[in-house]
Amino acid sequence: MAQLSDDCFAFGGPMMSVDDAVALIATRVAPVERTESVSLAEADGRVLAETVMAPMPLPPFTNSAVDGYAVRSADLALAARQTFPVVGRIQAGAAANHILKAAQTVRIFTGAPMPKDADTVFMQEDVRLEDGGVVLPAGLKAGANVRLTGEDIPLGNTALSKGQRLRPQDVALIAALGLTHVTVRARIRVAVFSTGDELVTPGTARGSAQLFDSNRYMLMAMLRRLGCDVGDLGILRDDRASLVQALKSAASGYDLIVTSGGVSTGEEDHVKAAVEGAGSLVLWRMAIKPGRPVAMGIIGGTPLIGLPGNPVASFVTFTYVVRPTVLALSGAFQDRPVPIPVRAAFAYKKKIARREYVRAHIRRGDDGVLEAVKFPREGAGLLSSLVETDGLIELGEHVTEVRHGEVVSFLSYGSLL
Ligand code: AMP
Ligand code: MG
Repeated sequence: MAQLSDDCFAFGGPMMSVDDAVALIATRVAPVERTESVSLAEADGRVLAETVMAPMPLPPFTNSAVDGYAVRSADLALAARQTFPVVGRIQAGAAANHILKAAQTVRIFTGAPMPKDADTVFMQEDVRLEDGGVVLPAGLKAGANVRLTGEDIPLGNTALSKGQRLRPQDVALIAALGLTHVTVRARIRVAVFSTGDELVTPGTARGSAQLFDSNRYMLMAMLRRLGCDVGDLGILRDDRASLVQALKSAASGYDLIVTSGGVSTGEEDHVKAAVEGAGSLVLWRMAIKPGRPVAMGIIGGTPLIGLPGNPVASFVTFTYVVRPTVLALSGAFQDRPVPIPVRAAFAYKKKIARREYVRAHIRRGDDGVLEAVKFPREGAGLLSSLVETDGLIELGEHVTEVRHGEVVSFLSYGSLL
């Protein structure tokens, strides 16, 4: 079971900045130790548990980058003046046994091995065929259109580093190196609960004052995108004793517990008290909108993150609190999403000293520049505001105002998961 050390109590102030919270999480959460070997077909999205060194160079042999004619660079000076006879033909996959003499050429195809001594290839589009040979244009550089052994990855170099969350291109590299399996960290097991007497599960009867639980399905989907093994633990009632019981039992079987709802300071918000009852509360109230408050706790060594109940607040705080925690527990690099500068097609005022995320869609302005259009309404409960936008505009703690036309930082929803 992953351990979150208790000394992060020291950081639990009344209001914590997003950066402090993320830094705290990244340094205090230890990755799961369980590893497993997975095949190439299962590797996408998994986190490498060991660095992969190249057991062979890539490409493994020097080969032609184009369809054309291979020559020796020593003969390039002759190229403009005489016809080069074609003395052989090498297809991709065939052996290159030809030995070129002065001013001779070999017909060669993309990916075919270069004949001994030949080091330059003329593209077939650039030559003219004549009786008895090809006429080659002047001006080609020695070594043109050839891919050298190891130019992509030299033998023994680091191909992929420990902690990499494997993407399709990473899986391609592993395959190109001839490996069939890689050692990855076990998927972390995450328990997801919703809390609230007003919630019912879709598919069951809904009372007139009840809502269908949407957060649980959103959070489970987000966690699966991050490669977690997710346990759906349903809805907990607003009752401290049953919350304590449920949290304690989840802590023994999971690496992380994520809840939504019940973390405000209202009388019926019991998650904070339940965390204190079942374990210890680490931080509380983050300087983030939409989103404060967020609870983080440790129950029997298992971290717990209590997200706010409003769907938009839950979504935003997930990306800034749960995501770095999941990456840390999974043994993955902390890759902070990279913001893209866009032009604000809106004006906005905000409070100093808290981070804000404004929902926006992106369009191209009349001059072709990308601009962000703010969702017209503010509510943290509006699911349509997430569905109809492309991402979040990040406004730093120091910002108090956004003026029309100003450059702002945009984070696409795709980059946040
Ligand atoms: P809370 O954080 O428990 O005070 O909830 C804040 C708001 O979010 C309330 O309007 C809740 O009904 C709503 N809410 C809480 N949990 C969920 C959920 N799982 N799905 C949809 N809405 C929720
Ligand atoms: Mg509630």
